[in-house]
Amino acid sequence: MNYTKSEKVVVDANVLIHSRAQFPFQKALIPPSVQKEIRSEMSQLKMQKLDIQVIEPSKDSIEKVKNKSNEINSPTSDQDEEALALAIDRQIPLFTDDKALQNLALHLEERFESFNTEKISDTRSWKRVCSNCGRRVSSLPCSVCGSDLARRKRD
Ligand SMILES: [Zn+2]
Repeated sequence: MNYTKSEKVVVDANVLIHSRAQFPFQKALIPPSVQKEIRSEMSQLKMQKLDIQVIEPSKDSIEKVKNKSNEINSPTSDQDEEALALAIDRQIPLFTDDKALQNLALHLEERFESFNTEKISDTRSWKRVCSNCGRRVSSLPCSVCGSDLARRKRD
């Protein structure tokens, strides 16, 4: 891994919630949306072992992440994308085990690290196709068959 334990990192909610309080880092930054999620699910005890700072990501970075996410039809959540935007702001690694989020980081050339799993090394993207006729759609309803449903398919 290419970071040191004293370095600050950004973490997503799952890394904090599902860890057994043995973190390879001591200082973590999270966006407010992640704080909201962990507040209900993470024990005080675990929180005390870490120096957690809540920081709002910049609008520029959020926009950059959202644009890329839309371009590849990424299945990542808003809070995941905010964590990535924060990592981009600070130029520090993002810790996540979420493959879709790792993928988005790869597309944006942002450093990331896995916590419990292998990290991915190749980029992927998805296209939105009509659930009914299977044609590629950019907006709903489908211009060919009128269906209101779309699904993601590997590009
Ligand atoms: Zn259709």
